[in-house]
Amino acid sequence: MPDRSFLAWPFFEEEHRELIREVRTLIERNADLREDCGGGDPDNRCGTFVRMFGNGLLKHAVPAPFGGNKQELDVRSICLIRESLAYQSGLADFAFAMQGLGSCPISLFGSDALKKKYLPKVVAGEMIAAFAISEPEAGSDLRSMQTTAHRDGDHLVINGTKTWISNADLADFYIVFCRYPEGGEKSYVALVVQDKTEGLSIHRFDVIAPHPIGTLEFKDCLVPVSAVVGKEGDGLKIALATLDVFRPTVGAAALGFARRALDEAVGWAKKRKAFGKTLSEFQITQAKVAEMALAIDASALLVYRAAWTHDVLKQPATREAAMAKLHATESAQHVIDEAVQILGGQGVLAGSVTEQLYREIRALRIYEGTSEIQKLIIANQLLKTAGEG
Ligand SMILES: Cc1cc2nc3c(=O)[nH]c(=O)nc-3n(C[C@H](O)[C@H](O)[C@H](O)COP(=O)(O)OP(=O)(O)OC[C@H]3O[C@@H](n4cnc5c(N)ncnc54)[C@H](O)[C@@H]3O)c2cc1C
Repeated sequence: MPDRSFLAWPFFEEEHRELIREVRTLIERNADLREDCGGGDPDNRCGTFVRMFGNGLLKHAVPAPFGGNKQELDVRSICLIRESLAYQSGLADFAFAMQGLGSCPISLFGSDALKKKYLPKVVAGEMIAAFAISEPEAGSDLRSMQTTAHRDGDHLVINGTKTWISNADLADFYIVFCRYPEGGEKSYVALVVQDKTEGLSIHRFDVIAPHPIGTLEFKDCLVPVSAVVGKEGDGLKIALATLDVFRPTVGAAALGFARRALDEAVGWAKKRKAFGKTLSEFQITQAKVAEMALAIDASALLVYRAAWTHDVLKQPATREAAMAKLHATESAQHVIDEAVQILGGQGVLAGSVTEQLYREIRALRIYEGTSEIQKLIIANQLLKTAGEG
């Protein structure tokens, strides 16, 4: 059972403690969430998780009155859910998170018609969402995206390639970021593209910790103008606002992985004997455990500070979100590595919890902005305001 003492921190309210009880009950009732050692077909398992969270946890992934339980997204709740699910299963966390990330542009900027069409089905677990911005030649450097959209009467015609798209070929719709051929900062547009739209083809590939991912090819793919999310020209703003909301939640998932790794390490250190003692009696092990716990608490403070800044102060939390993601993902990698070390050979046994965590954590330092990009964001924010007042 993960340490929940942090719920007494002033970032949280009674509704958050109640939410944790709800998640715990869900975990107790669903063996799929308790016994995940990474086997099975990821698409089937994601589908199972999305249905499992339908009209329950997914109410936290979109706003009211479109199926969600609050007028605005509560990032603390999303973080608590992600942390709790990641502690159990990387894929369960992924399935939950993608419903939020993939629908967030509609939640934040969509017309009422788009909200009514998509959000209640996302909450019910009847539609799977995806967020498509990265391209083969535009990852960190989003502004250099090449996928274009041009007007043709009441339609937009999309041409180009998106890659690294989570939920590729599983999603019912994709929020696709394109640019108008004229270029410039106001040439970006976000569009909802439904699965099986003519002109969209999808190729899958595998990554280190299996989850649905692939490349989307658009060849004269026609979507109605009504599929534009927010204002034409605001595409980049929409993408960055979505990432500001979801970056702390990536940190929360990393936190869940790290807490699990610490628990696995402590459990093992207390029972494994060497040189006539348990590992936990050696000071080198104690130092490792202390550093792991310190890294986890520091991450939790940063993650929930970012979430609280968004929810309670209602201020732009760009710097806080970048710090939370950067620290939580980087330190979780280290915590998990130390856990593997404490478990020795058992730590790298294929299918073991630590081996799975070791693979699961890696991509979190890359997606939704690499660690290097988070540093640039933090420095940029700092240098912009340094010396003022
Ligand atoms: C598992 C996984 C899931 C993903 N899911 C999605 C998804 O659902 N939707 C989506 O749109 N994208 C997704 N992505 C893509 C992800 O967001 C990109 O991989 C990420 O933004 C990095 O882009 P890149 O891979 O092109 O690397 P690059 O941008 O080419 O970067 C390569 C390296 O160069 C470094 N670098 C780049 N610029 C600088 C700089 N200015 N200074 C210093 N270093 C720099 C980077 O930090 C990195 O270390 C996913 C990626 C992965 C791995």
